[in-house]
Amino acid sequence: MSPQPENFRKTKIICTIGPATNSSEMIEALARAGMNIARLNMSHGDHKFHGDIIRKIKNINKKLKHPIAILLDTQGPEIRTGDVNAELDLKVGEIFKFHIIPGLESEAKSVFVNYSDIVNDLKEGDKVTVDNGLINLVVLEKKEKELICRVLDGGKLGSRKHINLPGIRVNLPSVTAKDKRDILFGLEEDIDFIALSFVRSADDIVGLKALVEENGGHAKIIAKIEDQEAVSNYKEIISEADGIMVARGDLGVEIEIHELPIIQRKIIKECAIQGKPVIVATHLLESMINFPSPTRAEVTDVANAVYEEVDCIMLSGETATGKYPVRCVEMLHNIALRIEKSGGGVGYINERIPADQKEQLAKATANLADSLKVPAVIVITRRGTTAINLAGFHPNFPVIHAFTNMTSIRRKLWINRGILPYRIDFSSDPEKTITQAIETIKKNKMVQSGDKVVILSDVIAGVDRVDTIQVREVK
Ligand code: PEP
Repeated sequence: MSPQPENFRKTKIICTIGPATNSSEMIEALARAGMNIARLNMSHGDHKFHGDIIRKIKNINKKLKHPIAILLDTQGPEIRTGDVNAELDLKVGEIFKFHIIPGLESEAKSVFVNYSDIVNDLKEGDKVTVDNGLINLVVLEKKEKELICRVLDGGKLGSRKHINLPGIRVNLPSVTAKDKRDILFGLEEDIDFIALSFVRSADDIVGLKALVEENGGHAKIIAKIEDQEAVSNYKEIISEADGIMVARGDLGVEIEIHELPIIQRKIIKECAIQGKPVIVATHLLESMINFPSPTRAEVTDVANAVYEEVDCIMLSGETATGKYPVRCVEMLHNIALRIEKSGGGVGYINERIPADQKEQLAKATANLADSLKVPAVIVITRRGTTAINLAGFHPNFPVIHAFTNMTSIRRKLWINRGILPYRIDFSSDPEKTITQAIETIKKNKMVQSGDKVVILSDVIAGVDRVDTIQVREVK
């Protein structure tokens, strides 16, 4: 959809592409419905599967007025059950065993686990959670190569189901050998963001940034907060990462689930204080995997995230395997737009202390534009930092029109709340660049003659780079 003032949505939408949406037609339909960023979940599919999707997105981007970005989400140190010949039926109160002997066939009451330290790491009384919290067991006894457990919550257990060990520090690197291969594949394909699963500390981000840099990549790093250790280190992680994902799927089983709303709120607020973009992910419209409309609670959950001024809301199973992927995007778009238009956001502008002159200018621009009640601010930005700084102050005015001369920076600006990114060639005469930017947004009907706009840019004056904030009337 081509944004107009009445339908421009500040909150961005991320969709996971999977078997339900990996055709060109579906990807284009999602983009036209409002998807800003496509997510590739490396827990599923091989490089051929994801490479095909990337090629389709690149082709579709040639047709779109505002090309979408790509986020590669690593599998991380995920623990999984082995293959089973037929689903195992776990009943409440029964004894069930997890073993670590590769090649040993699963039996009715036991299954292989791909993490050999599971027996060392766990003790009697610890919990094992399977299939994202659907099946729960408690450890009764440890043997050399198996854990003997009692089923607390039963269910059908299929092959390769995700296991969580709440509160246990898993002895696996945060970037596994598979993650490294996937990241190098993504960099080769020039993807825009890497979401790192199960980040534990800021050092994990430092390590990944080095890997990206060593390989000549420019991807931005999103830290997924999904266990207790990340929650304990969240401020340092936010500081080091380019953005944060509140990965509520795993977080909801790794911590007490009633703590989740508090943690979500704390992370969103800290991201606002540090001026970093934040994504709220998972189960936003879970029931729409199977049904054409969401529950009232889901609508309210999405609305609350928008009230809290998150940068992005993310769909997982809803678009990867669900029956109504395009309707889910339309639903998120309608809820987010309605809530944004209703006013009454959190107002984070004074929570963030500008760290340097660039941030002072961004804050001054936000205050000026808000007090003049302009419909738009234009930012002329090479690397995107000026626009990101401005978005980080959560201004109230409707749209940050960010003009960069780099296609890949343009795509990366989709992740920040309120930014509508464009690419133009910069003129050696800054006045010409500004005139072109104003004409572009006027042509796109985002402003009209007589409107005032605020412009934030740095211009070369002689030998100096001069930061400017200007107010101009659209001719
Ligand atoms: C989550 O746990 O919410 C999440 C987004 O991560 P994944 O889908 O990789 O489990």
